Amino acid sequence: MVNECKTEKRYWSAEDCPPWCCGDHPLDDHPEDAVHATELSPIPVVAGSRGNQSAARSSYFDVARLQHVSGGEEWVFVGDGESGWVITKESAGRVLRALARVLEP
Ligand SMILES: [Zn+2]
Repeated sequence: MVNECKTEKRYWSAEDCPPWCCGDHPLDDHPEDAVHATELSPIPVVAGSRGNQSAARSSYFDVARLQHVSGGEEWVFVGDGESGWVITKESAGRVLRALARVLEP
């Protein structure tokens, strides 16, 4: 994945960022909060709740790839401004494959 950041980055340690990171890493970032992240990719959606699709509304889901700066597991965020999921990259792959199956004609 190439870096597709739209804004100029401020890194405290750019060489430590993976190529996909568009994260802002200010010096005063608390170490526990410091994550590498792709730029948010908002996806327009119409979202309802299970059993109540009549209350559906236009919204968006942001999607981003995350990894704590200390390394380890990569995560994927999917959600809107009110709620969302942070799941492992492997879990996101399973969701992707399941979506492909249910969307087959
Ligand atoms: Zn980074």
